[in-house]
Amino acid sequence: MSELGDRLAAVDDAIADAARAAGRDPGELTRIVVTKFHPASLVRELAALGVRDVGENRHQEAAAKAAELSDLALRWHFVGQLQSNKARQVRRYASAVHSVDRGTLVDALAAPQPLDVFLELDLTGDPGRGGVAPAELGPLAERVMATEGLVLRGVMAVAPLDEEPRRAFARVREASERLRRIAPTADAISAGMSGDFREAILEGATHLRIGTAITGKRPPPG
Ligand SMILES: *Cc1c(COP(=O)(O)O)cnc(C)c1O
Repeated sequence: MSELGDRLAAVDDAIADAARAAGRDPGELTRIVVTKFHPASLVRELAALGVRDVGENRHQEAAAKAAELSDLALRWHFVGQLQSNKARQVRRYASAVHSVDRGTLVDALAAPQPLDVFLELDLTGDPGRGGVAPAELGPLAERVMATEGLVLRGVMAVAPLDEEPRRAFARVREASERLRRIAPTADAISAGMSGDFREAILEGATHLRIGTAITGKRPPPG
């Protein structure tokens, strides 16, 4: 098997081990391969290895790859900061946006076709980092639920660099529990990257966004 195939298999084994350690069924987890900065050819190789869910964080790059790979049945997950004026265009190819963090973006994403939405939590308290403050989670969820086409799936977070990942993900789990009191079906948790997906799984993550552990080192941003 290729090195890419070896890394994919190794990550999937580690995901399954962590799920079993948490008393969870690995089948309930969605592994998204984050392919940002890599060429479309790498995404095609991943698809040949059975990958269906891919993640991107920049609109122009994602749109170009989605167009080039439109013959494949891929689900594109948008995971980066999103400007409201790009929302319409992202909707053309994305199945899910994981980084919804403000009302103006919710409004800009309104459209008849269904789109899965995750509310990105700010775990740092730093307004420059993106994400909704914990106190604003409820009102933002209400706004998504009142908006045409948007399917509220749950919460998303990136663990801060200066906090133990397990502790950060425990805070995400608490936010998810609060969200489910007002939106019982919004039970998904998008959390866990190459360095911390085991901890995220132990705290209930359902959608793992894994890049370098599968793709190898990223080329510099183009
Ligand atoms: C790049 C990125 C990832 C994947 O990061 P790795 O450390 O390469 O696994 C996950 N989530 C978001 C939001 C990203 O931008």
